[in-house]
Amino acid sequence: MLFRSFVFVLCVALSMPATASRALDCSGRGEAHFDPLVTSLMQWIADNSRYKFVDHFTPTIELVPAAELARLANPGRTVDYWQAVDACFLTERVTIYLSDEFEASDLLQRSTLVHELVHFMQLINGAFDYAECPAALERPAYFLQVDYLDQHGFDWPEGLRAQLRLMGFVIGRCPPAHHQ
Ligand SMILES: [Zn+2]
Repeated sequence: MLFRSFVFVLCVALSMPATASRALDCSGRGEAHFDPLVTSLMQWIADNSRYKFVDHFTPTIELVPAAELARLANPGRTVDYWQAVDACFLTERVTIYLSDEFEASDLLQRSTLVHELVHFMQLINGAFDYAECPAALERPAYFLQVDYLDQHGFDWPEGLRAQLRLMGFVIGRCPPAHHQ
């Protein structure tokens, strides 16, 4: 398999509050069935990046409460220091975790799924093997998320577009190389 054995947790947080949400219509408790949506989003990513779409190869998607998302996003930290996130991708489980209040029809929320699917496609395209550091994989994820919102006519709230691009630069920076 292409997958490296070590574990990465890659999460995205938007500072904007989520819009009012309805219960997601999904069969199966906690596990969503997003296949047509996921396929179309991965095709969009393939059309807009160098990551190739591999048919019939999709991540598991699970819907979990916000507290569970925060726990996943903050391994090794005590609860007082947990940061809230909107979505995570766990490489080890090849699973994307979304909030159980995820609303696929909400463009901004859907863009967080795009962000995590970029990480999935990075995994299946071997990008984890050639990235300078794992953080470097965040830059394309944030930039493609912004591109997706742009192309779909997102009505950007003041400052959010610049903030997402800045997060791509800041979070996507590799730590300085260690010196002996
Ligand atoms: Zn990310």
